[in-house]
Amino acid sequence: MADSSTTCATPRTDVAFQRCISPSCAATYGVDEVLVACTACGGLVDVVYDWDRLGPPDSWKFFENKWSARRDRLAFSGVWRFYELMQFAPRDNVVTIGEGQTLLQRSAGVAEFVGLKPDGLFLQYEGMNPSGSFKDNGMSAAFTHASLVGARQAACASTGNTSASLAAYCSSLGAMKAVIFIGSGKISYGKLSQALDYGALTVQIAGDFDDAMARVKEVSAEMGIYLVNSVNPFRLEGQKSIMFRVLEGLGWEVPDWIVVPGGNLGNSSAFGKAFAELREIGLIDRVPRLAVINATGANTLYQLYEKRGVRWNDGATAPDVIEQYYVEMDSEARRASTIASAIEINRPVNLSKCLRALDTCDGVVRQVSDQEILDAKARVGAGGLGCEPASAASVAGAKLLRDEGVIAPSDRVVCILTGHQLKDPTATMAYHTTDQDQFNEVLGKRGVRRATFANRAVTVANDVDEIVKTIQLYG
Ligand SMILES: *Cc1c(COP(=O)(O)O)cnc(C)c1O
Ligand SMILES: [Zn+2]
Repeated sequence: MADSSTTCATPRTDVAFQRCISPSCAATYGVDEVLVACTACGGLVDVVYDWDRLGPPDSWKFFENKWSARRDRLAFSGVWRFYELMQFAPRDNVVTIGEGQTLLQRSAGVAEFVGLKPDGLFLQYEGMNPSGSFKDNGMSAAFTHASLVGARQAACASTGNTSASLAAYCSSLGAMKAVIFIGSGKISYGKLSQALDYGALTVQIAGDFDDAMARVKEVSAEMGIYLVNSVNPFRLEGQKSIMFRVLEGLGWEVPDWIVVPGGNLGNSSAFGKAFAELREIGLIDRVPRLAVINATGANTLYQLYEKRGVRWNDGATAPDVIEQYYVEMDSEARRASTIASAIEINRPVNLSKCLRALDTCDGVVRQVSDQEILDAKARVGAGGLGCEPASAASVAGAKLLRDEGVIAPSDRVVCILTGHQLKDPTATMAYHTTDQDQFNEVLGKRGVRRATFANRAVTVANDVDEIVKTIQLYG
């Protein structure tokens, strides 16, 4: 907070700064700096606010009133409608393409599947964002920061949705070039086609996501390219708004549970930060519990949190236990593998922040199989919204926690549907197909044995009577 000048092109260094999340380090930096790690200790950094100086709104009514001002682009955006809760940039510098017009929907059908009362299960459908995933919430905030620091090129490593989002922002704004790093063979067509269609430079690396992540960090540091992966603390500021909208959808009542798939753990970290801040400024008086759901084939957080007892522990997160886990993983050549490609990650970059979020929200971590993920996905689809495989991990996880009795039958549960149904048509088609070869090729080799809720296409002769009979039979 060294600089207190605020002309309209400078970051709000008077009220916001960056700080290392490790309490024993707590090094601070201006919001005008570009960091992917603390330069003192190598840990993750947060964006933090001087709430006393900011004097944030003391009632949710303030935000509700913005609905009547929707021609104002900041009031229109589902992210920047909550500008007062993420004021690191002057209003004039805010970048938005209308993200965050998303929906909290009660789903009686999915509630029944999970084992809850008909009015107890809510789906937060982030697939309604411009590029079809929740990543747009974070990208608008990262781009706001990138524009403040005058970046001309932006890069990310991606399992698909971050790259689609980055490419969408770059091409909409026209001011920045996108460079996308992807691993080989692990990206769904829906997502890759977006990046190509939006005109991004797409670099396919002979390696997996974690390799692409390591290389993009090196290359962006060397070339001065702005990195928009979720190690970027500004991204997580935008993703806090998902929780603000969930609360908005519930009439500002805090639910009992938030259930979210965990990949690089940016979302879960952002949610924990959102609730900690809302409690600090007095807009809520209790926080929900947080459940982070891994795929069984990509379960680093589950292993560390539930099996090896790693905790936030005021920043003393047992780095030796974590390192030992990665050493074992490498020596056994274990690599993440799941149909839920968006969470197919070995080394989640936001691990320490997620541990902090689990601490804030009395959290639990579970793992679910590809079979459970795809069956849950089919129930979500039949419930009307649909989602991509990774998203359905939240619903499969809620069902598991309900079966275990951790979630009570009367609890109010919000599952985050992180990405759009059309992101991964290959997985959806393989599940609903009658073609055993197609099923085996995509799903069977991942240990999926049955398409429990398959909705098969019915073949029929090109004949009116036959068609009528068929509809009478199945309709
Ligand atoms: C990125 C992504 C995730 C994982 O989110 P993290 O913040 O990395 O944990 C889950 N689902 C979808 C659809 C995603 O795009
Ligand atoms: Zn530090």
